[in-house]
Amino acid sequence: MSHAIPEELLRRFDVPGPRYTSYPTADRFVEAFTESDYVQALAQRRAGSLALPLSLYVHIPFCESVCYYCACNKVITKHHSRAAEYLRYLTREVELQVAHLGQGHNVSQLHLGGGTPTFLSDSELEALMTMLRQHFTLVPGGEYSVEVDPRTVTEERLKTLARLGFNRLSFGVQDFDPAVQKAVHRVQPAEQVFELVAAARRIGFESVNVDLIYGLPLQTPQSFARTLAQVNELRPDRIALYAYAHLPSRFKPQRRIAAADLPGAGDKLSMLSLSLDALIDAGYVYVGMDHFALPNDALAVAKRQGRLHRNFQGYSTQPDCDLIALGVSAIGRIGATYSQNAKTLDEYRDLLDQGRLPIVRGLALTRDDLLRRAVIMALMCQGEVLFESIELGHLIDFKSHFARELETLEGLAAAGLVRLSPSGIQVTETGWFLVRAIAMVFDKNLQVDLDRARFSRII
Ligand code: SF4
Repeated sequence: MSHAIPEELLRRFDVPGPRYTSYPTADRFVEAFTESDYVQALAQRRAGSLALPLSLYVHIPFCESVCYYCACNKVITKHHSRAAEYLRYLTREVELQVAHLGQGHNVSQLHLGGGTPTFLSDSELEALMTMLRQHFTLVPGGEYSVEVDPRTVTEERLKTLARLGFNRLSFGVQDFDPAVQKAVHRVQPAEQVFELVAAARRIGFESVNVDLIYGLPLQTPQSFARTLAQVNELRPDRIALYAYAHLPSRFKPQRRIAAADLPGAGDKLSMLSLSLDALIDAGYVYVGMDHFALPNDALAVAKRQGRLHRNFQGYSTQPDCDLIALGVSAIGRIGATYSQNAKTLDEYRDLLDQGRLPIVRGLALTRDDLLRRAVIMALMCQGEVLFESIELGHLIDFKSHFARELETLEGLAAAGLVRLSPSGIQVTETGWFLVRAIAMVFDKNLQVDLDRARFSRII
């Protein structure tokens, strides 16, 4: 066994914290940021950086049945006719976006998330992609990914996704144990997932990701070890391993999970520890923040070469781009702003019916936000912060500006998570496993916010 990280460190740094797919985090967005702020950010983009490619995120909120652990923005329905109406609204939203942005922009990244994107029929997926291609240019060599619920696809459907231009698939697996699947109301036999992953390989998808969750009801370290062994047999290119955060007061479906069925903190810690060991022993590279990849996968290569980036979908190999977010609740990023669409379908449709973009909140980043974002992303993506490069980019003296943070980091250095030198901060091999705790030191909002309990725990 490799024993990737001592359990003592995992226990000590088990503090609630954000996942830093953005900084500041989405809970800091304000309603004072409106459609007109967003339109202004688009105008600045037009004036400044026409050549930079875009990233697109499209949220498809529908699911046929609810998974009890779910914390996503979704609409549970068996009425597939709702998808057709939603596509009409997405088209209207794209037309409004393009009216401000201009036609035919290059796109190097597209992600279809949900909900369940494969709730859409093949012809609806085709109509969606045709509509997007009418307004944007999907450049060759980009990352075009889609989240796939194994219960909703066949090999034929995967062929359709490939024909439509998708080159990456992400399968929601969570756990292969039938009792756990039953307890979370998401029954999908392992054979089905094995057949689909084999089909994805035959078809030629560049990368297959599998999502796993530990801390679900009825899971034990022994049962999860069996799931990990099956995942190793499946050999996906990438694995995302998330901790289940039981917050039934915030997420209604979670009320159907009996607290007594949940593994205790000790078992949860064991599951994390054995997962890290099992996946690393199986040859996976720990990319950072819950993500693993095979050594030849583009994500592992980018990590070795210091070219990782981070956006709302997690780690990426594509340079930071402006992100146009489409669909209910979707979050976008243009220049130094973040924006979020209405969270309910009713409000989303109402705003579009009025001829308005459905943006209801967001944030214009301050200079301090941009500085801290640069430090946090450097820690999470490159695993190091060079004082000089931050000083040049943000016109500060790093050591005096961040005197308090550097003092805090000394404790993490003593624990072996970072190395401090006169020229910078380096995340150690052990520190990568707790990189969120390191990043949190630079989060201004956490320094003034003692109510951290709303974030999921690190383990
Ligand atoms: S976990 Fe995914 S498939 Fe399950 S209800 Fe939530 S969004 Fe839908």
